[in-house]
Amino acid sequence: MQYKPLIIANWKMNPQSLVEAKRLFGSVKKGLRNIKRTEVVICPPSVYLSDIKNQAAGIKLGSQNCFWEEKGAFTGEISAVMLKKIGCQYVIIGHSERREIFKETDEMINQKLKAVIKTGLKPILCIGETGEEKEQEKIVSVFKKQIKIALSGVAKSKISKSGFCIAYEPIWAIGSGEACGIDEAMSAKLLIQKILISFLGKSLTKKIPILYGGSVTSKNARDFIDEAGMNGLLIGGASLNSQEFIKIVKIVF
Ligand code: PEP
Repeated sequence: MQYKPLIIANWKMNPQSLVEAKRLFGSVKKGLRNIKRTEVVICPPSVYLSDIKNQAAGIKLGSQNCFWEEKGAFTGEISAVMLKKIGCQYVIIGHSERREIFKETDEMINQKLKAVIKTGLKPILCIGETGEEKEQEKIVSVFKKQIKIALSGVAKSKISKSGFCIAYEPIWAIGSGEACGIDEAMSAKLLIQKILISFLGKSLTKKIPILYGGSVTSKNARDFIDEAGMNGLLIGGASLNSQEFIKIVKIVF
């Protein structure tokens, strides 16, 4: 199956002001005016979403997180419904920083995934192993657990219609400047697909894009798509430099 490559920018908790966020977005938008064969999604801090939405044009908006309840006494949280109403189309779920710093469990990620799908947003499920798990050759069991629990109780028909995708983000590669090797990324993709087939079957698995994230730059971006066969990229640090991000999108398409 041919996919339109999906390039997702995760700005994390950057930049520090709305003025800078608008400037960064404006610069990316200008540089990508004529890009039609790649789906570009920007995930800024949620406080900037509505302002950026007004400038969005062809660029899609995503959230870095969401809560699973729709409304109520959940201080500090933002629901998928709110994100949809503000103009988001995608939501990153289970980023390793959420898992590590905010102690999100696979069970919580499962609830978020269900909420995102129910709301009609596209979930980007992040999975990946720590450096220690890699050394101890635990990748298979780590992936199986993360995928199995995330998808638990989610109907196949719902996954199929949701635009669900998986981002393989080895934790040791995130923000480290040490990207995953191309062969490793290729094997990780095959392993993820094998696990997905066991839960969802072959035909649905074929429709699920698998992205790579972890120290992507304009120097290695193309190899992850052309050599490792990834269907897109999730980009952290490099997405904060508009010229570098534009370069990556142009290289990939
Ligand atoms: C990320 O945070 O999802 C990420 C991939 O970060 P970086 O590109 O900086 O490694």
